Amino acid sequence: TTFKDLGLSASLLATLEKEGYHTPTPIQSQAIPILLDKHDLLGIAQTGTGKTAAFALPILHHILSNRIIPAPRSCRVLVLSPTRELATQIADSFKTYSKGLGLQIATIFGGVKYGPQYKALQGGIDILVATPGRLIDHIEQKTIDLKAVEHLVLDEADQMLDMGFIKPIRQVASRLPAQRQNLFFSATMPKEIAGLANELLTNPKKVEI
Ligand code: AMP
Repeated sequence: TTFKDLGLSASLLATLEKEGYHTPTPIQSQAIPILLDKHDLLGIAQTGTGKTAAFALPILHHILSNRIIPAPRSCRVLVLSPTRELATQIADSFKTYSKGLGLQIATIFGGVKYGPQYKALQGGIDILVATPGRLIDHIEQKTIDLKAVEHLVLDEADQMLDMGFIKPIRQVASRLPAQRQNLFFSATMPKEIAGLANELLTNPKKVEI
């Protein structure tokens, strides 16, 4: 399989070519068609398998193919990550894959000042990558508006459980439009995580690597 066979748009294919991605990894060749078809996804995969591109590319495809011009920015993609390091890596991947496409990608995590985060959010964003605790703070302060979110990604859900983020995840999810695509990734599936996936996902397709 090639990325072209998977059905990604020409602008994304050009970027992948430039990045030197020639062949999709197994999770990419399995997950990308499911996500392009707008299904929810339950992905059981570790870091290092190429899972970030597996979710970022089809999400970017949807965002680009359904773009309002002139674009009023509204947060259309929300990615929840357990740690600041992973959030930063995910945001960097979105920036790489959307180079030159004019999207605004912001990252929000705890342990740092609010000022720069307020500023980034005020400017208008298309994609937000956040840790759950700090995101709740922004929601309560009304500095972020999530009513336009079309795609929700939970990455490393099992690590979120270990860090006590299940309650904040439920709180965030309750603020999102009911009509949305949900992507849920975890390396392992303990009972609590299977339960959370069951609550958040609608008729998900399952991919296990
Ligand atoms: P991840 O599992 O998302 O953390 O990705 C692991 C690494 O693989 C990252 O450095 C990606 O840039 C790289 N990568 C992902 N997909 C591909 C691909 N199809 N071809 C080459 N490198 C890739």
